[in-house]
Amino acid sequence: MRDHFELQDADAGGRIGELTVPRAGVTVETPALLPVINPNLQTISPARLHEEFGAEILITNSYIIHNNDDLRESAREQGLHELLDFDGAIMTDSGSFQLSEYGEIDVTTDEILRFQREIGSDIGTPVDIPTPPDVSHERAEAELETTKERIEAAESIDTGEMLLTAPVQGSTHPDLRERAGAHADGTDHDVFPIGAVVPLMNEYRYGDMVDVVAAAKRGLGVDAPVHLFGAGHPMMFALAVAMGCDLFDSAAYALYARDDRYLTVRGTEQLDDLDYLPCSCTVCTDSTGEDLRALNAKAREEALAAHNLHVTFTEIRRIKQAIRSGDLLELVEERARSHPAMLDGYRALCEHSEQLEREDPVSKSTFFYLSSESANRPEVHRHHRRLDRLDPEGQVLLTEGDSSNNYDESWRIVPPFGPFPRALSETYPLTAEVPDRLDASAYEAAADGVARLVESNPDTEFTLGHWDWPASALDRVPERVESFSLGDP
Ligand SMILES: [Zn+2]
Repeated sequence: MRDHFELQDADAGGRIGELTVPRAGVTVETPALLPVINPNLQTISPARLHEEFGAEILITNSYIIHNNDDLRESAREQGLHELLDFDGAIMTDSGSFQLSEYGEIDVTTDEILRFQREIGSDIGTPVDIPTPPDVSHERAEAELETTKERIEAAESIDTGEMLLTAPVQGSTHPDLRERAGAHADGTDHDVFPIGAVVPLMNEYRYGDMVDVVAAAKRGLGVDAPVHLFGAGHPMMFALAVAMGCDLFDSAAYALYARDDRYLTVRGTEQLDDLDYLPCSCTVCTDSTGEDLRALNAKAREEALAAHNLHVTFTEIRRIKQAIRSGDLLELVEERARSHPAMLDGYRALCEHSEQLEREDPVSKSTFFYLSSESANRPEVHRHHRRLDRLDPEGQVLLTEGDSSNNYDESWRIVPPFGPFPRALSETYPLTAEVPDRLDASAYEAAADGVARLVESNPDTEFTLGHWDWPASALDRVPERVESFSLGDP
């Protein structure tokens, strides 16, 4: 177990955890959102973030403070918590973002980490190299080496009680992200940001984002708290949490508000296009779209930022409850319907089912079959693997209908899982709720289950009784299985 992070609950790759931040004297429950505070420009004050939105942790940029004479002196004199008027935990970034935007910065990891400690940061960050997506393997590997050197160098700096991050880079090369994750995991650092994913999210490349996170997670240990750096849109939180991300930072609430953009869990709206406000936060119940449009620019920005934060924090709470209730993937499926790019993200998640399945609890609330993607959920793959350990003998009937005494054994078969002994009927996930009008994917997955069972029991004779399965499913059933239709259910 890592010293400062403890896992409490899990669902798919998602988890509820506790991040202990000793310097701040607080324990932050994850998944957590860190609102980004621009020290030069506060749309919503940190005190209000705490009181009104319950923010336990926020993030600000130590490089901006370091490079502004007034801010630097105030931060040195009063400390960061006093400067921002915030009692919770404060994470600081190092200027890596500025490095990626402007090509160079004028501090070293050593200088900026000492500065972060000096001003009272609770979680400090070295200067890593945020390699953008799609660059050559050679460049991504060379830059990753530099990031690794700096992470190692940071270990030898006396940072006291301040926790340290070890950013995971590697561009869009899964082998490098995995290697970076394993390297970071081998250090004494405490929090693991997956860096340089903002360009992927800005281009709605959620499928690629999922692949990057999956690769990093393969390198990192299960007990490593993972921060998805720069991921601020509530639409994708459930997806990212289900992949195993624990911390998010949001500058989006303020940046979008500045452009008159209104966040929802289904996407982003322009305030000008809204005849109705589809939200019940205080901003949206106290005013209409017209009221908001009539405000002066500053008041409008503040109102929109407050709404954006309400939506964002509400989604985090909804996700936590979904983990507790064991229906996080149902929530992800729902969000996947909000945008084709989100559907890509969810399909990519399903491609990593076997990886997710390692952390997924064996039993949770009833499995809901909600789309053809449900046929590819981790629970289906787990059931198929479980079939390898079962040994039906003699002549065995696998049927969607009633059991029959004409066989040595008579098993049930339920799409999308496939066959199982009747004694398991009441166990998760075989108690699944499935629609009457199932799609071909569910039958195909069930047929894959039959194939798996048949392959691992070469001496057993199998007969399949099915309710008129489509040809695409029957084609997947091994030839030596005799199958017959039971007609319509
Ligand atoms: Zn609202």
